[in-house]
Amino acid sequence: MAGKNAKSPAIGIDLGTTYSCVAVWRHDRAEIIPNDQGDRTTPSYVAFTETERLIGGAAKNLVAMNPTNTVFDAKRLIGRRFSDPLVQSDVNLWPFKVISGAGDRPTIVVNYKGEQKKFVAEEISSMVLSKMKETAEAFLGVPVENAVITVPAYFNDSQRQATKDAGSISGLNVLRMVVEPTAAAIAYGLDKKFGSSDEKNNVLIFDLGGGTFDASLLTVENNVFKVRAIAGDTHLGGEDFDNRMVEHCVEEFKRKHKKNISSNPRALRRLRTSCERAKRNLSSVAETTVGVDCLYDGIDFDYKITRAKFEELNMDLFQRCIKAVEECLDDAKMDKESIHDVVLVGGSTRIPKVQQMLRDFFNGKALCKSIHPDEAVASGAAIQAAVLTGQGNAEVQDILLCDVTPLSLGVHVRGDAMSVVIPRNTALPSKQEKQFMTCYDNQSTVLIQVFEGERAKTTDNNLLGKFELTGIPPAPRGATKISICFDIDADGILNVSAEDQTTGNKKDMTIINDKGRLSTDEIVRMLQEAEFFKAEDEQHRKTVEAMNALENYIYSLRSKIKNDKNFALTLTISDQRKMEVAIEHAKEWLDGNQLAGEDEFKDKMKELESICDPIIAKMHFSGTHGPKIEEVD
Ligand code: AMP
Repeated sequence: MAGKNAKSPAIGIDLGTTYSCVAVWRHDRAEIIPNDQGDRTTPSYVAFTETERLIGGAAKNLVAMNPTNTVFDAKRLIGRRFSDPLVQSDVNLWPFKVISGAGDRPTIVVNYKGEQKKFVAEEISSMVLSKMKETAEAFLGVPVENAVITVPAYFNDSQRQATKDAGSISGLNVLRMVVEPTAAAIAYGLDKKFGSSDEKNNVLIFDLGGGTFDASLLTVENNVFKVRAIAGDTHLGGEDFDNRMVEHCVEEFKRKHKKNISSNPRALRRLRTSCERAKRNLSSVAETTVGVDCLYDGIDFDYKITRAKFEELNMDLFQRCIKAVEECLDDAKMDKESIHDVVLVGGSTRIPKVQQMLRDFFNGKALCKSIHPDEAVASGAAIQAAVLTGQGNAEVQDILLCDVTPLSLGVHVRGDAMSVVIPRNTALPSKQEKQFMTCYDNQSTVLIQVFEGERAKTTDNNLLGKFELTGIPPAPRGATKISICFDIDADGILNVSAEDQTTGNKKDMTIINDKGRLSTDEIVRMLQEAEFFKAEDEQHRKTVEAMNALENYIYSLRSKIKNDKNFALTLTISDQRKMEVAIEHAKEWLDGNQLAGEDEFKDKMKELESICDPIIAKMHFSGTHGPKIEEVD
């Protein structure tokens, strides 16, 4: 881990389900870094084609054309098992293929350059992270190594570990993982000086993005941020609002033209794009048009939709969000009057009705929305990164983060019972010990099985890992005391140790692998592969550059002969023919060899230059203008 005085700037990355965002602390504030397209958020998409790998916007644009090889939503897979019911229901919705890999790990199968390739979610996320790293490097002009990455508050140990692994595979040193609501609160904390005095602030973070909704309740006291409760829906967001509008438009089309477009994927896709645009417009205007030329059977679709209609179509979904806020308050045993601030996060919180319903729920309270809702999380992560590397100013240095365990952590004891060692919602880091004893006479081994979850029976909870403490000397049952220590660090990563109190014999483990976490060897292999992909991408970029250079040269020569009158007039007929034949040859070759290599394009370029450049040079040096005559050869 980098020390406090690390020189290269540390960045903050909001690794989102649909979009990601990167920020850095500069000029005494968190600055959002735009990508090469000038966009401040980048789609979390990776596309594999016959010729290249694309990440971000270029990949998202391919979803329609190359659906089976364009991967998104990796965040819904990361750190989960294939057999997880949530994974099972998602698998049926994705156009790309996901199979059960080693250790029940979800494995994405794509076709890349004509070959079948398999990736785990960590690798796909690492590709998105590497794009964010490159975006920052291009902007800052220096290599970037250190980063703070955000994760949802509900992410368990395995999901956090897997996200950290994705960071390592992308070549980043992950300084810390911060939960998204805390990051958003930090971003606002600077403006509002949350908790800078002794008083306690209760902050509700309302995060409604493209595909997920999270409500989190934090308390901020003396610059310490604690997550008190979380609620939400992993499948509720902007895409659902788009879908409602699409369904409505399909009905409208049916009513008006007696045609059903619902079985035409292309028409639906074009309609969805138009609906999403209309939805965004409706956040600022009261009426807009959903318009698609030649939507179906040559018929144009032009439909006026009002904000009121859009709200009516989605009212039940908006209400679900408010209900989750209620649940969150209930869970934290707080009433709405005790909430000091309500912070908006996620692009869909721009919807005026959502804001109004939330304001009404909190009896007219003003909402915190001065920071762009899709940028607040990355901004907070950048502030935290600056704090951890000693780069922030005095104002931010005091911020202390304190996450909590999202689930209780414990061990299996006799009778399939869960004995909790660290209860749910315990502030991190935390170290707690509990005493256990042997159950049988002369028991020589104890199997320590670590679980997370709230159920009384361990079989209903989630197994994190297990190990054995051996070599216990013979003794009657209950005589040997075993001390089990759970040590969970600031990132939520757990180390469990067990010690035989009589002999001092001790064994420990960091929770790994049982839930499909990657081993160190696998991470090293994936790091090498990531380097290989990077080199391949670079090679592809050079090849495309060489191809473009040749094409540009051909067109510039053609245009010179056609449009540059001085040049055309001074050119001898034989030189003109020579050039035209060479250009035509080169063009034919280019059309037939689009998949050629960089060297081949360069060689072809040289060949053409060797014919045309001397002629052009001759023209520049010949002072005489005007048409000439020459012998026909
Ligand atoms: P996020 O994942 O937080 O970037 O949120 C992306 C979602 O926000 C997408 O579903 C967008 O359609 C939605 N969104 C972005 N801007 C607006 C807006 N002005 N009004 C309504 N929804 C928006």
